[in-house]
Amino acid sequence: MFISFEGIDGSGKSTQARRLARTMADAGTETVLTREPGGSEGAEEIRRLLVEGRGERWSPETELLLFTAARRDHVERLIHPALARGASVITDRFADSSRVYQGLVRADLRQLVEELHRLTIGIEPARTFLIDLDPEIALARGQARGGVEDRFETLGLDFQRRLRDGFRALAAEFPARFRVIDGSGSEDEVAARVRATLA
Ligand code: C5P
Repeated sequence: MFISFEGIDGSGKSTQARRLARTMADAGTETVLTREPGGSEGAEEIRRLLVEGRGERWSPETELLLFTAARRDHVERLIHPALARGASVITDRFADSSRVYQGLVRADLRQLVEELHRLTIGIEPARTFLIDLDPEIALARGQARGGVEDRFETLGLDFQRRLRDGFRALAAEFPARFRVIDGSGSEDEVAARVRATLA
């Protein structure tokens, strides 16, 4: 099974992806946990270009092409082979991040995102967990443990609010694939919500 986790920065999606991977592996399923941008050697190299170049380095169009190139490599080298041998794949972000970040919030490129996806990627997860969290809570959690504040500083709380709205709109657009998970509360509580929707 191909599963993705999506959400704003600091939503807890990476923690929840890791926890679900552990739960599935404990239940005896071969499970590959991966992430975007990155997840394969070439895609991790592109990630460095993107993350270090944060801000003004790339136009939204160039940024989208780089994310798409990284995704293509990730799919070719890691996701397809794992699914082909019968493993489950859990990815921390996939194409929905491009739909929202590059397609909706950073720029109005949704059509281009869809066309590139159709031409070069072509697959969707069977299940997408949207870890839905108020950006102010995400920011407060980040300040408490150190980590995401810089991203909020660079991108701003309003950017994160628009991302949240974008993800929720996408979940409404593809209800069969998405499960919207309340990301508030403890790590254990959120993990239990994820598990409950899998049953
Ligand atoms: O999920 P993670 O924190 O590893 O993502 C790295 C950064 O790339 C994040 O700050 C996120 O905002 C950004 N990103 C993006 N467009 C995407 C995916 C991630 O701007 N399509």
